Amino acid sequence: MSPHRRSPAAPATAPASPARSELEPGDLATAWLCATCGVQFTPSAGPPPACPICDDERQYVGPRGQEWTTLDELRSGHRNELTAEEPGLVSIRTTPTFAIGQRALLVETPDGNVLWDCVSLIDEATIAAVRERGGLAAIAISHPHFYASMVEWSRAFGGAPIWIHEADRRWIVRPDAAVRTWSGASTRLPGGLTLVHVGGHFEGSQVLHWPQGAGGRGALLAGDYPSVCADRRWVTFMRSYPNAIPLSEREVEHLVTALRPLAFDRLYGWSRDKLLAAEAKRSVERSALRHARALRGEHDVVTW
Ligand SMILES: [Zn+2]
Ligand SMILES: [Zn+2]
Repeated sequence: MSPHRRSPAAPATAPASPARSELEPGDLATAWLCATCGVQFTPSAGPPPACPICDDERQYVGPRGQEWTTLDELRSGHRNELTAEEPGLVSIRTTPTFAIGQRALLVETPDGNVLWDCVSLIDEATIAAVRERGGLAAIAISHPHFYASMVEWSRAFGGAPIWIHEADRRWIVRPDAAVRTWSGASTRLPGGLTLVHVGGHFEGSQVLHWPQGAGGRGALLAGDYPSVCADRRWVTFMRSYPNAIPLSEREVEHLVTALRPLAFDRLYGWSRDKLLAAEAKRSVERSALRHARALRGEHDVVTW
């Protein structure tokens, strides 16, 4: 895949077969995808002027400048891999890696399946595989870095509602009737799942609590807040992960307080290696204390 670049000398061209669901015959508008974060925009004739999610200090524009691609281009060189993570949970990951390298998690419940977070690629094979598992009753997304092609996913499954916290409304670059913003501290989804607003990394960051996960001990689907560390006994709490901007002690305390009423033993992050397999709640609390001690200067070298 060769992403389009935004350059006056080399204007991006519209693809031969734009997203079918959107367009009238003869319409050359395309729902462009940002190649860095993977978010899909409202259809337009040429690429949008910028990606506000990547222009923000929590993400980045790569050294070659803003790059764009399309779903058709993505479909030509990529596919999605579905993997059973545990009973009732399937991960959906694009290969070769695209954008941030994020994955979506499909939580299977007796009241319908919920897609947690999203990937940019959606194709016939993926739709068939998800339909085989009962389709989608709802989509919920932790925060703007993982919005991906959420509207395409919703439309492929009968306009499934997309649950996003109200505090992140301004980051929605492809508004749609399926998007359901909600406010407050928590809200219920099908199958006994609960969305919990945690803020911090993004104003509207949310996590999904799955009480039946981890053999009934409970699982937390967390996106990247908190984010599992390389040493998988720990998590970290950052405003920006790529640009290494930490969150304050007060914000992290708010997260720990929001998670306290939830029973969970396992934490699923945004990629395969971001997994706290057991004792996740204790890890989050211990990590919050470590984070606070570091911010207060426990490891300071200067002594004057
Ligand atoms: Zn972007
Ligand atoms: Zn993020």
